[in-house]
Amino acid sequence: MNIEDLKQHIRDVPDFPKPGIIFKDITPLLANADAFNFCIDQLVERVVRHDPDAIVGIESRGFIFGAVVATRLGLPFQLARKANKLPYRTVKVSYELEYGSDSVEMHVDAVEAGKRYAIVDDLIATGGTAAATAELIELQKGKVACFACVIELAFLAGRERLGERVIETLIDY
Ligand code: AMP
Repeated sequence: MNIEDLKQHIRDVPDFPKPGIIFKDITPLLANADAFNFCIDQLVERVVRHDPDAIVGIESRGFIFGAVVATRLGLPFQLARKANKLPYRTVKVSYELEYGSDSVEMHVDAVEAGKRYAIVDDLIATGGTAAATAELIELQKGKVACFACVIELAFLAGRERLGERVIETLIDY
């Protein structure tokens, strides 16, 4: 298995969730044990370079990859969720979408001042979600060790939204 093989397990679904969007479907990757395992190996190898104290997974596919990376590294796992999903007191950051806005929340006690957090998601598109999660961690005085994801839609220049923060991706389109 290599990165090229991994690509074969990502399915393009045109016009989902709306016309003009090519949705990168990672369910075939998850359904193939070798591909999923290789993908986690690769994420772990990149994340560990940035010496995190904990992993933050972004809802919802970031939970799948992030949780496994966290257990592999023996690190705590924290959730960054969409609005109004977390039960306890939260901190929220909103960000602009093409039409309207969205937000991410974390529990108030999810981030410790001075600790390093590796953020994990499946994909970076415009970078809005990743940047908002990074801000959320920094608002709580945590440090962003890196943002790591499986797929980067480079043509959307999401990296620019993350500024100087470290980005690790496996597959670029
Ligand atoms: P963005 O905030 O624009 O970087 O969008 C990133 C989030 O939206 C990630 O959590 C992705 O799961 C999801 N996403 C955005 N565009 C796509 C796409 N073309 N295929 C699959 N997921 C996407």
